[in-house]
Amino acid sequence: MKIVDHIKNAKGKPLYSFELLPPNKGQGIQSIFRTMDELMEFKPPFIDVTYHREDYLYKQHANGLLERVSYRKRPGTVAICAAIMSKYKVDAVPHLICGGFTKEETENALIDLNFLGIDNVLVLRGDARKGDSDFIPTVGGHSYATELLEQVVDMNHGRYLHEDIESSEKTNFCIGVAGYPEKHFEAPNFNTDFKWLKKKVEMGAEFIVTQMFFNVEKYKEFVNKCRENDIHVPIIPGLKPLTSKNQLITLPRIFHLDIPEDLSDAVEACKTNADVRQVGEEWLVQQCKELIDFGAPVLHFYTMSNPGPTKKIVEKLV
Ligand code: FAD
Repeated sequence: MKIVDHIKNAKGKPLYSFELLPPNKGQGIQSIFRTMDELMEFKPPFIDVTYHREDYLYKQHANGLLERVSYRKRPGTVAICAAIMSKYKVDAVPHLICGGFTKEETENALIDLNFLGIDNVLVLRGDARKGDSDFIPTVGGHSYATELLEQVVDMNHGRYLHEDIESSEKTNFCIGVAGYPEKHFEAPNFNTDFKWLKKKVEMGAEFIVTQMFFNVEKYKEFVNKCRENDIHVPIIPGLKPLTSKNQLITLPRIFHLDIPEDLSDAVEACKTNADVRQVGEEWLVQQCKELIDFGAPVLHFYTMSNPGPTKKIVEKLV
């Protein structure tokens, strides 16, 4: 079912959904199933599965020469989505990224997803490769989420890359995109970033999932700005429990977000890791309650494939 229909059917009752990462190469599907087993009690309407671009590593040969080898640390997104749908009868939402794919490869992936009965995709540009300071598009691929979105919308209209329009089957993907209540880090200012978000919705995106945030006011301001600017699609808040002191440094560095002073002070004052987890849990439970009161349609948790902390929070909400 499409995410927008899940939201409509919930009739204002909050839904809980989760994002999973494919396991590292070499690990089996069991870790995904273990995570799913833990989360199924919350009846998630959908589960997101991230996509990861290839990275490079350098192998030294006996003659001293270095060989650059391309490898994908977390492959398997499409197969994991199929396995989740088949075993748990829950909609799986694969993330689709620009980096690492030519347009032809993207088209083939979308055909696979369509054949598997996947109704939703989250369309993203993707992160830069480890070691690259900027996002470098793949030759023959897309540079921005808008371009990838256009390709998915085209397929929804029966327009494939090299085929005659009349004879081609239309796909029917419900398309989501990313939104940044605290601005995407590369954008020169919030309004420019917002202009691209609006463009993505005008082009056919039917829902937005936000980058994580720790200040609910930022989400509220973002939603209000969207509504004032004719963006009326559901805006799903992305949430993550803070679980270690180190995350006071790593989360702002990786995700370009602000941690409110009250939260960082409380974490700094903690003596043990268990105390930090307790502070992070209480903070996020409070965030969730405020988001539910504000009318957030779905609370979407970035589990980082460690369901324990998320589970403790959702248990306090359902
Ligand atoms: P875009 O919408 O393309 O925006 C990128 C930047 O370019 C922004 O600064 C924007 O303002 C600007 N811009 C946008 N369109 C244009 C245009 N047409 N012309 C000029 N400038 C433009 N990364 C992964 O690798 N895999 C994942 O699975 C993944 N999942 C994510 C899920 C969520 C909910 C979120 C919020 C992020 C996720 N990311 C993932 C990270 C994401 O790929 C990065 O944040 C990336 O840097 C930007 O992606 P985007 O889709 O927002 O890009």
